[in-house]
Amino acid sequence: MEGFAEASPGRLFAVRLPYGGDLLESIRDFAVRVGVETGVLWVIGAVKKASVSFYNQEEKTYSKHSFDEPLEILSCIGNIAKLKGETFAHAHIVLGDKNGRTYGGHLEKGTTVFSAEMFLLELKGVTLNREYDETTGLNLFKL
Ligand code: ZN
Repeated sequence: MEGFAEASPGRLFAVRLPYGGDLLESIRDFAVRVGVETGVLWVIGAVKKASVSFYNQEEKTYSKHSFDEPLEILSCIGNIAKLKGETFAHAHIVLGDKNGRTYGGHLEKGTTVFSAEMFLLELKGVTLNREYDETTGLNLFKL
């Protein structure tokens, strides 16, 4: 089933996320701090180490991958929505190593910021609630 919602752009924040912080938690904490309940985000920068996961569509489980080395955040995009009434950040990340190899996945806690520049765009006129979807096993937008 497909669905959609129309939203309008709200406030736009340029943010330097804290050195040594957890990337995913820092994104969420900032959104909560400024009261963004629905939004889209972009981050570039670098991490000291990273943790990502891959969703196995057959087993409906995430398998985790950790990288214990400095990596560039080549691209990290995501969104802010609501899950069980709480503000929830969902982001995917592409990381590059010193040889230009790339890794990526669903951003997990355990990714430590070296530097991170984020733009967060608030969306107005819509509330995105996530709800469990039987078909995929994921908490998807209820639209
Ligand atoms: Zn994901």
